[in-house]
Amino acid sequence: MSSEKKQVPELPDLIDWTDDGVRLQSARCNSCNTYFFPASHHQHRPGCSREGVEPVLLSKRGKLATYTIQHYMCPPPFKTMGDITPYGIGMVEFPEGISVAGLIMETELDALKTGREMETIAYTLYQNDDGDDVVTWAFRAVN
Ligand SMILES: [Zn+2]
Repeated sequence: MSSEKKQVPELPDLIDWTDDGVRLQSARCNSCNTYFFPASHHQHRPGCSREGVEPVLLSKRGKLATYTIQHYMCPPPFKTMGDITPYGIGMVEFPEGISVAGLIMETELDALKTGREMETIAYTLYQNDDGDDVVTWAFRAVN
């Protein structure tokens, strides 16, 4: 992230960019090895003792499991600076075994296909009253 422009997440505790890149804040159960996103959303495997859940960051990249292309805006409270249609929504499967849905931005939509490598980015939805970029996570095709 650029140090000149301040980015603030639309929702807390979902995105980490302290590293060189954007990663989703997940959690892992050390008893059943299930990953959770958001980290607070715990759905353990049946019979799990539910002991030892710890915060972890997901890999930066995963593979596109499925997607669709939207030609209409998401209804409120989803908010953007302008019309972003058409845009993709995809499920990205991370090496950790968890799949996460998100916007597909900064990508040639006609070139999308399942199995394609995707990386997590912070996408600016709009600017708040302080002039900060309000961001959410999104996915971008890698090359
Ligand atoms: Zn568990």
